[in-house]
Amino acid sequence: MRALVWYGKEDIRCETVPDPKIEEPRDAIVKVTSCAICGSDLHLYDHFMVGMEKGDVMGHEFMGEVVEVGPGVNGRLKVGERVVVPFTIICGECDQCRRGNFSICERTNRNKEKADKVFGHSTAGLFGYTHLTGGYPGGQAEYVRVPFADRTHIKVPESLTDEQHFSSVISFQPAGRRPPRRR
Ligand SMILES: [Zn+2]
Ligand SMILES: [Zn+2]
Repeated sequence: MRALVWYGKEDIRCETVPDPKIEEPRDAIVKVTSCAICGSDLHLYDHFMVGMEKGDVMGHEFMGEVVEVGPGVNGRLKVGERVVVPFTIICGECDQCRRGNFSICERTNRNKEKADKVFGHSTAGLFGYTHLTGGYPGGQAEYVRVPFADRTHIKVPESLTDEQHFSSVISFQPAGRRPPRRR
């Protein structure tokens, strides 16, 4: 598949990378139909945010169609359904998820110890956002593996177009960026 791949400061390339596969029972594969570029992506682009590795796939705001589900998804998501996938990967079962604190889900960041060191407290796993947040390939790609997909999705009604639904769910807040100062 084609994807946007990070190589270093101000070096992001559109390349062919291996298609994602189901790796865990609760995974789904989503064919991306729309994605966004976020202010947070600029922190990776200008290498303000550490923890990227050459070859990482970018993108954490995307929507698409489910093309494959793992055996652990248990009917919560079906092939052919349209979904928006949020930045945060959530298990839906840990203490923090049960309290509604999804951004600090205790189970989805597979590099939790690194994040604890750098941030002081780990976040949930995040798509396309460094190895401090789990090193999960992102959605500026043709296909994405969505871990914990039975919980990590928002279903899109048939009647809405991508544009109608995507803009209502995804935040376009600039992530701490200011316009360049005029000289
Ligand atoms: Zn974002
Ligand atoms: Zn959780």
